[in-house]
Amino acid sequence: MIKKIKRLYTAKKHSYYLYICECGNLCIKRGDSKAKYCSLPNCKYSKYHRHGFNRKNEPLYSIWESMMSRCHGSHHSNKHYKDRGIKVCDEWRLFENFRKWAYNNNYKPGLTIDRINIDGDYEPNNCEFVTRSENTRRQLRDRHPTSKTVLCFRDDVFLFKTKSIRKMAEKIKTITKTTKRIKTVEENIRKVIKEKRQEYLGFNFKEEAKSD
Ligand SMILES: [Zn+2]
Repeated sequence: MIKKIKRLYTAKKHSYYLYICECGNLCIKRGDSKAKYCSLPNCKYSKYHRHGFNRKNEPLYSIWESMMSRCHGSHHSNKHYKDRGIKVCDEWRLFENFRKWAYNNNYKPGLTIDRINIDGDYEPNNCEFVTRSENTRRQLRDRHPTSKTVLCFRDDVFLFKTKSIRKMAEKIKTITKTTKRIKTVEENIRKVIKEKRQEYLGFNFKEEAKSD
């Protein structure tokens, strides 16, 4: 735990105190801070560093950290992952578990983590380590996926089909006159296909694999 030592100053109506952390570090925080530890990089008690690994001594740490912030960070650039409902599985939220899996699954410094199904979560069955160039190749491929036919239903009655999720989203926008952005409509259709939600605007969607 951190303990207040003394009051230092007031800024924007908040009092700031000097604290000492159980690890020995000194830090400055607001007087009403709920922090348990100092959160300095070398703090052995802070939740991210308890295990003793960091960016410098374990290359996997950066991979884990960016994976966590992509899915669970608050920065707006991560919205893409959140909206698609992509998560890091519970097991991997503990760095040690992720590290153990990585070394048992061909991880070597220089490789990056890749999801096999781009709509799936970060979890043991959906991830593998690939070279950076392989990862770039896949990202380009996924940006222009070979489209699958999307079927639209209402109350289990087939209505029509389109050649891609984008086309379906355009059609749904026209029919329902929704003011939602095309991206949002696409994401929700994708969620229905993945059975992460029951229906969207009263419609149900299924994907038909292209037979070739
Ligand atoms: Zn500390």
